[in-house]
Amino acid sequence: MLLFLTVTSLALQASVADTSPFRALPLPAPNRVRGASGAPGPDYWQQRADYVIRATLDTAGSLLRGTERIHYENHSPDTLRFVWVQIEQNIFAKNSVTYALNQPPLHFAGGAVFDFTGKGFLGGITIERFASAGRELRRTEDGTMMRVELPRPLAPKGMIDFDVAWHFPVPPYGGGRMGRIGTRLYQIGQWYPRMVVYDDVHGWNPLPYIGAGEFYLEYGDFDVTLTLPAGFVVAATGAVQNPLAVWTPATRARLARARRSAERVQIITKDEAVANGAARRPRTKTWHFAAKRVRDFAWAASPDYRWDASAWNGVLIQTFYRPSATPWEEANRMAWFTIKHFSETWGTYPWPHATTVEGLVEGMEYPMLTFVPSIEKREDQYWVLTHEFGHEWFPMMVGSDERRYPWMDEGFNSFIDYGSAEGYFKGTVYGDTVRRELLTAYRVSAVPGNEQPLITKPVESGDLAWTAYQKPALMLTVLRDAVLGKETFERALREYVRRWTFGHPQPADFFRTIENVSGRDLDWFWRAWVYTTARLDQAVDSVTAAGDTAFVFLSNRGHMVLPVTLELRYTDGSSEIRELPIEMWNLGSRFTARVRRAGGQSVAGVVVDPKGIYPDIDRANNRWPR
Ligand SMILES: [Zn+2]
Repeated sequence: MLLFLTVTSLALQASVADTSPFRALPLPAPNRVRGASGAPGPDYWQQRADYVIRATLDTAGSLLRGTERIHYENHSPDTLRFVWVQIEQNIFAKNSVTYALNQPPLHFAGGAVFDFTGKGFLGGITIERFASAGRELRRTEDGTMMRVELPRPLAPKGMIDFDVAWHFPVPPYGGGRMGRIGTRLYQIGQWYPRMVVYDDVHGWNPLPYIGAGEFYLEYGDFDVTLTLPAGFVVAATGAVQNPLAVWTPATRARLARARRSAERVQIITKDEAVANGAARRPRTKTWHFAAKRVRDFAWAASPDYRWDASAWNGVLIQTFYRPSATPWEEANRMAWFTIKHFSETWGTYPWPHATTVEGLVEGMEYPMLTFVPSIEKREDQYWVLTHEFGHEWFPMMVGSDERRYPWMDEGFNSFIDYGSAEGYFKGTVYGDTVRRELLTAYRVSAVPGNEQPLITKPVESGDLAWTAYQKPALMLTVLRDAVLGKETFERALREYVRRWTFGHPQPADFFRTIENVSGRDLDWFWRAWVYTTARLDQAVDSVTAAGDTAFVFLSNRGHMVLPVTLELRYTDGSSEIRELPIEMWNLGSRFTARVRRAGGQSVAGVVVDPKGIYPDIDRANNRWPR
């Protein structure tokens, strides 16, 4: 009977698709650009874009005007006849998708609110000139993207310089990512025309900037001079190149002290900030910054800033904030801990400073510079501050495609943020329990019918807080705690960071790296967590005994598979933990664990996932007897 059934089902299976949860994930075939191990291949290439920018802020009209030279190198094997350029200030222009749709703010489960519009502000960038070798180039604007025809085809290994001139009015509210407070405080991002990424997977990547999808950018060097009213203090991506011109001798002396101090040194005290803010200085001052190997450049300026600084491992840690932002007196200590923690755990911070600036932006990241608001509750202040700095690892170092795969930057970053918060608040109730909020979020957001898989594009995501931030953080937590173990997991994620720092990894590069370094086939894991909304329901159905053996009948009732942790409780009151590896589900959704009874004890009870670390949708069937 048994043999007969087996033969029949084999015959049937010959004509149906493989539905095993362990079937191979259909990833793009590896090649010489992206290897089978998940590392860049021997022919890996990336374009390069270097920028020299001269910009002047006219505070009277809040108008930013600039000229720019882009040096663009074609490292691809392709000949390019046109290039795509991002002109993202046009998100506030009439012809953009965002302005035309004028969607209300998105409210997500868990309370997050995102408003990606300019709140009615009509702006946009004016391109006055886009030329090469003195010749104006033909160009076509399409919302936040612009196609520029090259004067002659750009061959592989060729390079071209573009001369650009532009201006735009600075919006008071810039879609949550930049903006200004009156004419007193400016936080500037998405401001200069910049090259669209050309890669081996999509060619050009001119997906419009609509709001939810962030940025996918080429690496290069920046040389930026900013001219502002003389009283403004400026913080930016990159190091100041003209300290004698912009800083007083007292400022320079305090900075020198900060470079040797783990504790904050006040570079501009509260009293000095108040005095600066009240002073009238009629002229302008020009600040010169330079940055190497970054994918973007941002800056902030105000006459009202206090300024604290310290140093870790040669990195200058800076915090700029208004005198009213009292919670920020601790921000430098938070920033110092954050940079040290991420460096020691995931890979050393590669740039000369790490700076965070308080202001109107609710949280946004740029290379070396983040925008973070002042928040009364200490834990929340730390969370936003460490989150924005976590972006220095994902995507500033590991330059993934944010416009398609927010889970690879917001998600990986959210995961490492829990470790940072656990470290800073170690020994407190918050520090010891904060990660559990991921399981709470699961119950709120993983609703069948509503939930979308992680791979969903951000602009199509109905619950970005879940799909882009929390679910990927839960995914990596489960991978670490239940599948790979801490040491193997951390080694694999560190190797992913090492391989792809200053690179452009795709999802398959991440999957393959983790599988190769850990030595585990994880296709089943990525499929369930990234490509589906499969849910987990592990159950203990019954327990029987025969002779000196107990049989624990387990079943997997959902579509997600994970290893099982069993707690066995014996009649004498003792208990033990048994870890059953993922191979238990190789033959189907039922598994019988055979437990030899040591010393004549009987099994009195069984608990599946005793620590409650899984998002198991029905915990009632996790124990026997019920
Ligand atoms: Zn983020």
